[in-house]
Amino acid sequence: MPLLVMKFGGTSLATIELIKKAAERVKIEVLRGYEVIVIVSAMSGKTNELISWVNDTTSENEASLIYDAREYDAIVSSGEQVTAGLLALVLQNQEVPARSWQGWQVPLKTSGNHSSARIEEIPTQNLRAKFSEGMKVAVVAGFQGLSSDNRVTTLGRGGSDTTAVAFAAAFGAEQCDIYTDVDGIYTTDPRVCGKARKLNQISFEEMLELASQGAKVLQTRSVELAMRFNVRVRVLSSFDPSPDQSGTIVCKEEDVVEKNVVAGVAFSRDEAKMTLISVSDKPGIAAAIFGPLSEAGVNVDMIVQNISDDGLTDMTFSCPTQDVDRAKNALLEHRVSGQIHFEDLVADTEVAKVSVVGIGMRSHAGVAAQMFNTLKDENINIKVITTSEIKISVLIDRKYLELAVQALHNTFKLEKLI
Ligand code: ADP
Ligand code: ASP
Ligand code: MG
Repeated sequence: MPLLVMKFGGTSLATIELIKKAAERVKIEVLRGYEVIVIVSAMSGKTNELISWVNDTTSENEASLIYDAREYDAIVSSGEQVTAGLLALVLQNQEVPARSWQGWQVPLKTSGNHSSARIEEIPTQNLRAKFSEGMKVAVVAGFQGLSSDNRVTTLGRGGSDTTAVAFAAAFGAEQCDIYTDVDGIYTTDPRVCGKARKLNQISFEEMLELASQGAKVLQTRSVELAMRFNVRVRVLSSFDPSPDQSGTIVCKEEDVVEKNVVAGVAFSRDEAKMTLISVSDKPGIAAAIFGPLSEAGVNVDMIVQNISDDGLTDMTFSCPTQDVDRAKNALLEHRVSGQIHFEDLVADTEVAKVSVVGIGMRSHAGVAAQMFNTLKDENINIKVITTSEIKISVLIDRKYLELAVQALHNTFKLEKLI
């Protein structure tokens, strides 16, 4: 029997009414002859609430993140347990043979990196045995797994997307349908740019860059997995009642028919720019700075080393604002212990990152110049620039973020296919 993976995000399961709608959608696929694995997120807002409860357990004068990461995962994974059970119950009420599965029951095995664990293995025999006994739908709690020492782990924010793609790969599913609150992947976040256009298809490479630069419609890791195992992923709306909506297919580059030079604009609102002033410019200095940052779990993105003057230089890097305290603590600790020398550490926490992404950049020159000119015309100052083969990212003042996204969307004519 063909097998389908369907994933429902938090806004799609926010109320019992919506859970019933999701169940109806699943039932349509069962009636079409599929065995279905449904991956569920927690109800929208639930994971944030659980995280805030964890934060409330630390007293105000303690530095953030001083808690047992294993207990953090035990708590924040619980939202998915509830929606998995509820959806299974509602399906049973609709005469669909269904049961819920927690990560540990599958068991979905992960690394032990709590709060950002990686999936290592999904044994298929337990679910397959139940399918062969007549179960039609396995409702699996997304976002959670089990480490080798039998502790509950979570996969990072947005991790249910990754659970879904990993199940699709492990079970050889025909397709992995990601149901969300938009009807597909757009040229940019439609909440920020009214002219954003829905794409019919996008390549794995472009989606990977868009996701890693902040387009949260898919978790980056899920796109990586889809690319590696060639899983056909489709993003579509859980609010559209039509059983035949097209959504957006994420697929191999050669299967993409639409080919604009720039595929889309992504952004990340909560970025910080940190500058170490007067670092001694000698071999090993980058390793001395970025080694401790990586050990402290700081997600460093852009890096710029300024010109050297009298053997001293400034080193600038960007990271998410939520990592700023950790970065400061790590760098200051290493200054005290004499491993790094610098005069001052300046954090600008009012910046955002905007990126344009497109495979066409490999063969078309001038995208960077057009991007910089557009920002100049809007009087937006660029603070840091990085590029890859198919992406250009800039750091700008956060207050100009929406303006920049809209201006770039216009300049690359993303509202239409050219
Ligand atoms: P879910 O709860 O279903 O996982 P998310 O909130 O994680 O949903 O992702 C969907 C959201 O992603 C949309 O509501 C939209 O605001 C945002 N988004 C950002 N970039 C894009 C894009 N390029 N195309 C579509 N949606 C995008
Ligand atoms: N509930 C988790 C989160 O909010 C996982 C997910 O929704 O994918 O991050
Ligand atoms: Mg999501």
